[in-house]
Amino acid sequence: MIMEGVFVHPTATVEKGSSIGKGSKIWHYAHVREGAVLGSNCNVGHCAFVDTGVRVGDNVKIGNKVSIFRGVTIDSDAFIGPHVAFTNDKRPRSLGEWEITETSVKRGASIGTNSTILCGVTLGEDCMVGAGSVVTRDVPAHGLVYGNPARLRGFICDCKGDAVRKCEKGGVVTLRCSKCGKEFSSLKGSYKLLERG
Ligand SMILES: [Zn+2]
Repeated sequence: MIMEGVFVHPTATVEKGSSIGKGSKIWHYAHVREGAVLGSNCNVGHCAFVDTGVRVGDNVKIGNKVSIFRGVTIDSDAFIGPHVAFTNDKRPRSLGEWEITETSVKRGASIGTNSTILCGVTLGEDCMVGAGSVVTRDVPAHGLVYGNPARLRGFICDCKGDAVRKCEKGGVVTLRCSKCGKEFSSLKGSYKLLERG
């Protein structure tokens, strides 16, 4: 079902049985498979692939040549940079059954260009993955990670400002944005990842 106001470039393939929300744009040579569900105001870039069963929220930007395979869920306001690749089987083989392991990208998360996201991880709300990273484990909400394997390097606000530790109470660390002053929290366990480097 393609809602009103959706733009599909003539070279794109949008299979029957997919669902695309109002105001979304599907650009040149992109492929949206049957059973994929995209929300409103999404942008699917040149040559991007959205597999069957993938669910994407609203206002999601999917860059050129991104591959999103079955088992991946992307919440609203996420940014998926160009050439980002998701995986969906921990031990893929050409022969035999495909074993899907699910991956979750939470609201407002950003993934830098050319990163690889191993299946089974959760990318927390408003987190940021630096370009070219290989993400092998969960990223806490507002976490800034990069490298191969990606490590937690700090915390970041949705306004892009760096967040610094303000106080700790019980198992929760309160962080404060050095740019806009907004406060948010992270579990102490997640914060410890930062201390470990
Ligand atoms: Zn801020």
